[in-house]
Amino acid sequence: MKLVTFDEGRVGYLDGEDVVELAVASTREYFERGSDVSETGERLALDSVRLRAPIVPKKFFHTAGNFSDHHEELQAVNWSHPVHKGIVFFQNVDAIIGPDDAVVYPEGLTKELDYELELAIIIGKSGKFFGPEEAEDYIAGYMVFNDITARDIQRREMQSGVFSFSKGIDTFCPIGPWIVTKDEVPEPQNLRMELRVNGDVRQRGNTSQMLISLPHLVAYHSAQGYSAGDVLTTGTISGVAAVQPNPFDFYLRPGDRIEAEIEGIGLLRNQVVPWSAAHDTEPYTTDLYSSTAG
Ligand code: MG
Repeated sequence: MKLVTFDEGRVGYLDGEDVVELAVASTREYFERGSDVSETGERLALDSVRLRAPIVPKKFFHTAGNFSDHHEELQAVNWSHPVHKGIVFFQNVDAIIGPDDAVVYPEGLTKELDYELELAIIIGKSGKFFGPEEAEDYIAGYMVFNDITARDIQRREMQSGVFSFSKGIDTFCPIGPWIVTKDEVPEPQNLRMELRVNGDVRQRGNTSQMLISLPHLVAYHSAQGYSAGDVLTTGTISGVAAVQPNPFDFYLRPGDRIEAEIEGIGLLRNQVVPWSAAHDTEPYTTDLYSSTAG
Protein backbone atom coordinates (compact mmCIF):
# COMPACT_ATOMS: atom_id res chain seq x y z
CA MET A 1 0.00 0.00 0.00
CA LYS A 2 1.13 3.53 -0.77
CA LEU A 3 -0.11 5.70 2.07
CA VAL A 4 -0.50 9.42 1.35
CA THR A 5 -1.33 12.66 3.09
CA PHE A 6 -3.05 15.13 0.74
CA ASP A 7 -4.70 18.52 0.47
CA GLU A 8 -5.37 19.92 3.97
CA GLY A 9 -4.03 16.90 5.81
CA ARG A 10 -6.43 14.22 4.58
CA VAL A 11 -5.15 10.63 4.59
CA GLY A 12 -5.59 7.94 1.95
CA TYR A 13 -3.96 5.22 -0.09
CA LEU A 14 -3.26 4.91 -3.79
CA ASP A 15 -5.41 2.63 -5.92
CA GLY A 16 -4.17 2.90 -9.49
CA GLU A 17 -4.60 6.54 -10.48
CA ASP A 18 -6.95 7.25 -7.57
CA VAL A 19 -6.64 8.15 -3.92
CA VAL A 20 -9.01 6.28 -1.60
CA GLU A 21 -9.59 8.36 1.51
CA LEU A 22 -9.22 6.84 4.98
CA ALA A 23 -11.19 7.91 8.06
CA VAL A 24 -8.24 8.96 10.19
CA ALA A 25 -6.82 12.34 11.18
CA SER A 26 -3.18 11.66 10.28
CA THR A 27 -0.85 8.91 9.10
CA ARG A 28 0.66 8.93 12.57
CA GLU A 29 -2.74 8.07 14.03
CA TYR A 30 -3.09 5.42 11.31
CA PHE A 31 -0.08 3.61 12.79
CA GLU A 32 -1.14 4.31 16.39
CA ARG A 33 -4.40 2.49 15.60
CA GLY A 34 -2.50 -0.50 14.22
CA SER A 35 -3.70 0.27 10.67
CA ASP A 36 -7.24 -0.59 11.81
CA VAL A 37 -8.88 2.26 9.89
CA SER A 38 -11.97 2.33 7.65
CA GLU A 39 -12.49 4.16 4.35
CA THR A 40 -14.62 7.31 4.15
CA GLY A 41 -16.13 6.28 0.79
CA GLU A 42 -14.44 9.21 -0.98
CA ARG A 43 -12.30 8.43 -4.03
CA LEU A 44 -10.37 11.18 -5.82
CA ALA A 45 -8.15 11.27 -8.90
CA LEU A 46 -4.49 11.39 -7.85
CA ASP A 47 -3.81 14.23 -10.28
CA SER A 48 -6.60 16.28 -8.67
CA VAL A 49 -5.07 16.30 -5.18
CA ARG A 50 -1.97 17.96 -3.72
CA LEU A 51 0.31 15.45 -2.01
CA ARG A 52 1.78 16.61 1.29
CA ALA A 53 4.59 15.32 3.48
CA PRO A 54 3.40 11.77 4.18
CA ILE A 55 3.94 11.97 7.94
CA VAL A 56 5.03 14.32 10.71
CA PRO A 57 6.52 12.00 13.32
CA LYS A 58 6.79 12.57 17.04
CA LYS A 59 10.49 11.68 16.81
CA PHE A 60 12.73 11.78 13.74
CA PHE A 61 15.91 9.79 14.34
CA HIS A 62 18.71 10.96 12.09
CA THR A 63 21.53 8.56 11.17
CA ALA A 64 24.83 9.58 9.56
CA GLY A 65 27.88 7.70 8.32
CA ASN A 66 26.18 4.47 7.24
CA PHE A 67 27.63 3.97 3.76
CA SER A 68 31.29 3.05 3.29
CA ASP A 69 31.62 4.86 -0.05
CA HIS A 70 30.27 8.11 1.45
CA HIS A 71 32.64 7.72 4.42
CA GLU A 72 35.56 7.12 2.04
CA GLU A 73 34.74 10.06 -0.24
CA LEU A 74 34.72 12.37 2.80
CA GLN A 75 38.07 10.98 3.95
CA ALA A 76 39.53 11.26 0.43
CA VAL A 77 39.11 15.05 0.45
CA ASN A 78 39.96 15.29 4.16
CA TRP A 79 36.57 16.84 4.68
CA SER A 80 36.43 18.43 8.11
CA HIS A 81 36.11 15.67 10.70
CA PRO A 82 35.43 11.98 10.03
CA VAL A 83 31.81 10.80 10.07
CA HIS A 84 32.00 7.38 11.68
CA LYS A 85 29.10 4.96 11.78
CA GLY A 86 26.69 5.35 14.64
CA ILE A 87 26.27 9.12 14.61
CA VAL A 88 22.73 9.80 15.76
CA PHE A 89 20.79 12.98 16.40
CA PHE A 90 17.23 14.22 16.20
CA GLN A 91 15.99 16.01 13.12
CA ASN A 92 13.84 19.13 13.50
CA VAL A 93 10.36 17.93 12.46
CA ASP A 94 9.22 21.51 11.80
CA ALA A 95 11.67 21.57 8.86
CA ILE A 96 9.68 18.84 7.09
CA ILE A 97 8.32 19.58 3.63
CA GLY A 98 6.53 17.31 1.16
CA PRO A 99 6.70 16.44 -2.53
CA ASP A 100 6.94 19.47 -4.85
CA ASP A 101 7.34 21.82 -1.88
CA ALA A 102 10.12 24.39 -2.16
CA VAL A 103 13.46 24.17 -0.40
CA VAL A 104 14.02 27.80 0.57
CA TYR A 105 17.66 28.84 0.16
CA PRO A 106 18.73 30.80 3.27
CA GLU A 107 21.31 33.01 1.57
CA GLY A 108 22.03 34.83 4.83
CA LEU A 109 23.15 31.60 6.53
CA THR A 110 24.94 29.44 3.96
CA LYS A 111 26.79 29.44 0.66
CA GLU A 112 27.13 25.64 0.55
CA LEU A 113 23.73 23.99 0.21
CA ASP A 114 24.03 20.25 -0.41
CA TYR A 115 21.78 17.21 -0.97
CA GLU A 116 21.82 13.69 0.53
CA LEU A 117 19.54 10.94 -0.74
CA GLU A 118 18.45 8.54 2.02
CA LEU A 119 16.00 5.74 2.68
CA ALA A 120 13.73 6.52 5.65
CA ILE A 121 12.00 3.89 7.78
CA ILE A 122 8.58 4.39 9.38
CA ILE A 123 8.14 2.68 12.74
CA GLY A 124 4.74 1.00 13.10
CA LYS A 125 4.35 0.61 16.85
CA SER A 126 5.75 1.78 20.16
CA GLY A 127 8.56 -0.12 21.83
CA LYS A 128 12.04 0.07 23.27
CA PHE A 129 15.10 -2.04 24.11
CA PHE A 130 14.78 -4.74 21.48
CA GLY A 131 17.33 -6.56 19.34
CA PRO A 132 17.76 -6.90 15.57
CA GLU A 133 15.81 -10.18 15.54
CA GLU A 134 12.67 -8.28 16.65
CA ALA A 135 13.23 -5.20 14.49
CA GLU A 136 11.18 -6.49 11.57
CA ASP A 137 8.02 -6.36 13.73
CA TYR A 138 8.52 -2.61 14.23
CA ILE A 139 9.12 -1.61 10.61
CA ALA A 140 5.87 -0.45 8.98
CA GLY A 141 7.17 1.03 5.74
CA TYR A 142 9.60 3.20 3.85
CA MET A 143 9.85 6.57 2.11
CA VAL A 144 12.42 8.80 0.41
CA PHE A 145 14.28 11.46 2.41
CA ASN A 146 16.55 14.20 1.06
CA ASP A 147 18.83 15.37 3.86
CA ILE A 148 19.42 18.99 2.80
CA THR A 149 22.59 20.25 4.51
CA ALA A 150 24.43 23.57 4.82
CA ARG A 151 28.04 22.30 4.62
CA ASP A 152 29.71 25.50 5.80
CA ILE A 153 27.57 25.43 8.98
CA GLN A 154 28.14 21.69 9.37
CA ARG A 155 31.94 22.12 9.26
CA ARG A 156 31.67 24.74 12.01
CA GLU A 157 29.49 22.42 14.12
CA MET A 158 31.82 19.48 13.61
CA GLN A 159 34.65 21.33 15.31
CA SER A 160 32.65 20.41 18.44
CA GLY A 161 32.03 16.90 17.14
CA VAL A 162 28.31 17.38 16.50
CA PHE A 163 25.98 18.47 13.76
CA SER A 164 22.29 19.26 13.79
CA PHE A 165 21.60 22.94 13.04
CA SER A 166 23.08 22.56 9.54
CA LYS A 167 20.41 19.98 8.69
CA GLY A 168 17.45 21.34 10.66
CA ILE A 169 16.92 24.76 9.05
CA ASP A 170 13.41 25.52 7.82
CA THR A 171 12.44 23.44 4.69
CA PHE A 172 15.63 21.32 4.89
CA CYS A 173 13.71 18.07 5.39
CA PRO A 174 11.91 16.92 2.22
CA ILE A 175 10.17 13.52 2.62
CA GLY A 176 7.79 11.54 0.44
CA PRO A 177 6.13 11.26 -1.93
CA TRP A 178 4.32 8.55 0.07
CA ILE A 179 4.90 5.78 2.58
CA VAL A 180 5.25 2.36 0.96
CA THR A 181 4.19 -0.33 3.41
CA LYS A 182 6.77 -3.03 3.95
CA ASP A 183 4.67 -5.81 2.35
CA GLU A 184 5.45 -4.10 -0.99
CA VAL A 185 9.20 -3.96 -0.32
CA PRO A 186 10.41 -7.58 -0.21
CA GLU A 187 14.13 -6.66 -0.37
CA PRO A 188 14.67 -3.32 1.39
CA GLN A 189 18.37 -4.06 1.64
CA ASN A 190 18.70 -4.22 -2.17
CA LEU A 191 17.19 -1.04 -3.66
CA ARG A 192 18.82 1.17 -6.27
CA MET A 193 19.18 4.82 -5.22
CA GLU A 194 19.70 7.82 -7.50
CA LEU A 195 19.61 11.58 -6.98
CA ARG A 196 19.53 14.01 -9.90
CA VAL A 197 19.86 17.80 -10.03
CA ASN A 198 18.39 19.40 -13.16
CA GLY A 199 18.44 15.92 -14.72
CA ASP A 200 22.16 15.27 -14.03
CA VAL A 201 22.91 12.20 -11.91
CA ARG A 202 24.75 13.27 -8.76
CA GLN A 203 24.36 10.27 -6.47
CA ARG A 204 23.96 6.62 -7.39
CA GLY A 205 24.11 3.65 -5.05
CA ASN A 206 22.21 0.81 -3.43
CA THR A 207 20.81 0.14 0.04
CA SER A 208 22.94 -3.04 0.00
CA GLN A 209 26.00 -0.84 0.68
CA MET A 210 24.95 0.09 4.23
CA LEU A 211 27.50 -0.55 6.98
CA ILE A 212 24.76 -1.15 9.56
CA SER A 213 21.84 -3.24 8.30
CA LEU A 214 18.28 -1.99 8.69
CA PRO A 215 17.37 -4.41 11.53
CA HIS A 216 20.50 -3.48 13.48
CA LEU A 217 19.83 0.23 12.94
CA VAL A 218 16.20 -0.06 14.08
CA ALA A 219 17.29 -2.04 17.13
CA TYR A 220 20.09 0.44 17.95
CA HIS A 221 17.75 3.45 17.98
CA SER A 222 15.20 1.56 20.13
CA ALA A 223 17.10 2.42 23.32
CA GLN A 224 15.68 5.94 22.91
CA GLY A 225 12.11 4.57 22.69
CA TYR A 226 9.75 4.48 19.73
CA SER A 227 6.24 5.82 19.24
CA ALA A 228 4.09 4.60 16.35
CA GLY A 229 4.83 6.70 13.28
CA ASP A 230 8.37 7.64 14.28
CA VAL A 231 10.82 8.00 11.42
CA LEU A 232 14.45 7.02 11.20
CA THR A 233 16.88 7.72 8.41
CA THR A 234 19.65 5.44 7.24
CA GLY A 235 22.46 7.63 5.90
CA THR A 236 23.42 8.77 2.45
CA ILE A 237 25.45 7.32 -0.44
CA SER A 238 28.42 8.87 -2.22
CA GLY A 239 28.23 11.79 -4.62
CA VAL A 240 27.41 14.76 -2.41
CA ALA A 241 28.56 18.17 -3.65
CA ALA A 242 30.97 18.79 -0.76
CA VAL A 243 33.46 16.14 -1.91
CA GLN A 244 33.67 17.12 -5.56
CA PRO A 245 36.96 18.59 -6.80
CA ASN A 246 35.03 21.77 -7.60
CA PRO A 247 32.20 21.69 -5.02
CA PHE A 248 30.85 25.14 -5.91
CA ASP A 249 29.91 23.77 -9.33
CA PHE A 250 27.77 21.20 -7.51
CA TYR A 251 26.23 22.98 -4.52
CA LEU A 252 22.52 23.68 -4.93
CA ARG A 253 21.38 27.03 -6.26
CA PRO A 254 17.99 28.74 -6.41
CA GLY A 255 16.08 27.33 -9.37
CA ASP A 256 17.62 23.84 -9.13
CA ARG A 257 15.23 20.91 -9.50
CA ILE A 258 16.11 17.93 -7.30
CA GLU A 259 14.85 14.41 -8.02
CA ALA A 260 15.49 11.91 -5.23
CA GLU A 261 14.55 8.37 -6.22
CA ILE A 262 14.69 4.94 -4.63
CA GLU A 263 13.67 1.83 -6.53
CA GLY A 264 10.25 0.57 -5.45
CA ILE A 265 9.80 3.44 -2.98
CA GLY A 266 9.24 6.53 -5.09
CA LEU A 267 10.47 9.72 -6.68
CA LEU A 268 10.57 12.84 -4.52
CA ARG A 269 10.81 16.14 -6.42
CA ASN A 270 11.64 19.50 -4.88
CA GLN A 271 12.83 22.80 -6.28
CA VAL A 272 15.22 25.20 -4.58
CA VAL A 273 13.87 28.76 -4.45
CA PRO A 274 15.55 31.97 -3.30
CA TRP A 275 14.75 33.40 0.12
CA SER A 276 12.88 36.24 -1.59
CA ALA A 277 10.37 33.77 -3.09
CA ALA A 278 9.18 32.79 0.39
CA HIS A 279 9.84 35.82 2.61
CA ASP A 280 9.22 39.56 2.45
CA THR A 281 12.31 40.23 4.55
CA GLU A 282 16.01 40.40 3.82
CA PRO A 283 17.66 36.94 4.09
CA TYR A 284 17.86 36.00 7.77
CA THR A 285 21.33 36.04 9.25
CA THR A 286 22.84 35.48 12.68
CA ASP A 287 25.81 37.01 14.41
CA LEU A 288 26.23 34.17 16.93
CA TYR A 289 29.78 33.46 15.83
CA SER A 290 30.92 37.06 16.14
CA SER A 291 29.07 37.97 19.33
CA THR A 292 30.25 37.90 22.95
CA ALA A 293 28.19 38.12 26.14
CA GLY A 294 30.34 40.81 27.64
MG1 MG B 1 22.40 12.46 5.99
